[in-house]
Amino acid sequence: MTPPEPAPSPDGGPSRPSQVVAEVETTVPTVHGSFRVRAYRDLVTAADHLALVADAPDGTPPGPGALVRVHSECLTGEALGSLKCECGPQLDAALEAVQRHGGVVVYLRGQEGRGIGLVAKLRAYRLQEDGLDTLDANLALGLPADAREYGAAADVLRDLGVPRVRLLSNNPDKRRQLEAHGVVVDELVPLVVPVGEHAAGYLAAKRDRMGHRLP
Ligand SMILES: [Zn+2]
Repeated sequence: MTPPEPAPSPDGGPSRPSQVVAEVETTVPTVHGSFRVRAYRDLVTAADHLALVADAPDGTPPGPGALVRVHSECLTGEALGSLKCECGPQLDAALEAVQRHGGVVVYLRGQEGRGIGLVAKLRAYRLQEDGLDTLDANLALGLPADAREYGAAADVLRDLGVPRVRLLSNNPDKRRQLEAHGVVVDELVPLVVPVGEHAAGYLAAKRDRMGHRLP
């Protein structure tokens, strides 16, 4: 694998070294279609991240302006089918959209519970049983509302030759953070999936208290 390009610094100063190293690329067939999957090691957090890449219908690989989802790992939502969040259906919808139009899903590991970790996320769920919403539960635990960091995602996109994106997200803060790491976001493409009653309060808190663009 070729060493990644140095990343431009957010303030236009000298470039910083890439936070990720590409380790391997292989093809994985999925229920959504076949993806080229490239695995990265995060030199800062030691997490493994993935990029799932699909060509456009005419065979063109994703380039600047491609459809991109930057998705945070959620064990409960994706592996267990938990109905407390919409991560599983969102990941499925993103993989399908990228398969249909061409693009990339950057799958970030080590970001459970908006970055607070799996145990802390379950502690926050416990507090939510007493009536706190998702934001107040994090704050009651002395944790930030959102601890995610997107430097690795920006470096993955740079490595893939996709420095400019149409971002599949409802989260304006994710856009700002990626832009702070030098990614140009042409457009925020909504990713709204049907949710059940268990996630309704969670989504209302994300909409009303964290600025997510949701109906
Ligand atoms: Zn989730």
